[in-house]
Amino acid sequence: MKVFMRIRKYIGWCIKGIQRKIKHMTPAQKRLAMVAMIGLVVGCFMGNGIGRAAEQKRSEKKVKEAVAEVQKKADEKFNAVEKKMYELQDELIDHSVELPWNLTLVNGLHPMEEGYVPELTEIQPGYSVDTRIAKAVRKMLADAEEAGLNVEICSAYRSVERQERVFGDSMKDRVKDGMSYWEAYEETALNVALPGKSEHALGLALDLISNQYSELDEKQQTTAEAKWLAENCYKYGFILRYPPEKTNITGIVYEPWHYRYVGEEHAAKITERGITLEEYIQEYYEAEAGGQ
Ligand SMILES: [Zn+2]
Repeated sequence: MKVFMRIRKYIGWCIKGIQRKIKHMTPAQKRLAMVAMIGLVVGCFMGNGIGRAAEQKRSEKKVKEAVAEVQKKADEKFNAVEKKMYELQDELIDHSVELPWNLTLVNGLHPMEEGYVPELTEIQPGYSVDTRIAKAVRKMLADAEEAGLNVEICSAYRSVERQERVFGDSMKDRVKDGMSYWEAYEETALNVALPGKSEHALGLALDLISNQYSELDEKQQTTAEAKWLAENCYKYGFILRYPPEKTNITGIVYEPWHYRYVGEEHAAKITERGITLEEYIQEYYEAEAGGQ
């Protein structure tokens, strides 16, 4: 306490000294002192501001470096996993068997043929599909309408560039929600096909929803539109591409809105047996290779 008293006494003595000094100043000296004081205060503020800006720059740089480091590690990890998957896929596929165009497989293991762009036909403003399936799509939608349903197209052909934006936006949202870069990547990859690995770029896939319920989640399956489509799509050459309980095969979670064209014959077989396109193609390879 004694120290405080002493400091207080000292400060009081200083203030009194300053007051005395000011009293004896000429008006010109007072102005000069005022300018010096203002200069001192402004200087302190500016100095603080510059210091803070430098500190912010340093912390931004640190964050940038940390993100780059995580990104590099994620890429390394992903590349290793992807390489392994390609090796496995190569072992499984009989390259002497060629698939018909409507069975073209595009998934996490089978990327699109680079630079491939289908011949497109616009079926609704803003929505195009491979010209070869336009008739089937129109017929399916017309019949659904006739059955009193309101099916809406939510997505059709998507270019690889567009897929890149979809994937990037989904990742950004997850990072904003607090996920790490790698967590966001894994979570996004489970819900959104990687650019170059989406069937939408083939022009053979459609996302169809009820106009009563526009969310892309599991509840979509409860709509009259989704029920009708799941039941009837095979008649038009479509399959429900990502069924429930098959994520370990398709690599994509259950999507009760994503339909893929495979042609009437294949669609009927796939639907009847409740298998995925991956399983069907595997059998197709085996049968074809066996028959040769
Ligand atoms: Zn889709």
